[in-house]
Amino acid sequence: MNIAGNLSTILDEIPKEVSLVAVSKTKPIEDLEAAYAAGQRIFGENKIQEMTTKWEALPKDIQWHMIGTVQSNKVKYMAPYVSLIHGVDRAKLLAEINKQAAKNERVIDCLLQVHIAQESTKFGLNEEELNQIMSHQQTNPFPNIRIVGLMGMATFTSNTKQIKQEFQYLKSLFDQASTQLNNINTLSMGMSGDYSLAIEEGSNMIRVGSKIFGERNY
Ligand SMILES: *Cc1c(COP(=O)(O)O)cnc(C)c1O
Repeated sequence: MNIAGNLSTILDEIPKEVSLVAVSKTKPIEDLEAAYAAGQRIFGENKIQEMTTKWEALPKDIQWHMIGTVQSNKVKYMAPYVSLIHGVDRAKLLAEINKQAAKNERVIDCLLQVHIAQESTKFGLNEEELNQIMSHQQTNPFPNIRIVGLMGMATFTSNTKQIKQEFQYLKSLFDQASTQLNNINTLSMGMSGDYSLAIEEGSNMIRVGSKIFGERNY
């Protein structure tokens, strides 16, 4: 696997304003080191324990993004260092992140994850739940949290028309959110198979794993 080469191929393809999260879940430290040596500084992981082990082992100028489902009782392990939590899908989780961020005297940036795919295995808020959180947030109940945008995963399908519609839907919710709260600036959508489409539809943060590090063995 030519990690540096894969990274530069992707970076050549995408606009400068789009952030690239290198999704390194399941991959060994050496692979992350290779990406780091090539200049990559944002890494995404979906398990808090694995992310924390890698954070301990690697240089401290890396920005760690949690992109998976977050269990409330594990927030404390990443609160000292996590730079963005993509998968916030319930109000109670915001309360726990706020509490742990306060303990660490930090403000933690979060994205609200919206369910835009057809698969019920993918998680996220529906539009009504999103609106509830957005309007509650206007009262600034969680001073140690900053909601900076939305995240979503499209259906795993070869039907590009459908993927496009799902991304357009998320973009419309993002535009709406920008009018409701300050600091809304990040739309995290697009993975190895669909990031070009996502960028066309307004994404400014893509999460790419296999196209950088190769297929994952679970
Ligand atoms: C694993 C994962 C990715 C990366 O997937 P690839 O298809 O390997 O690029 C992106 N986003 C989330 C939420 C993931 O869990």
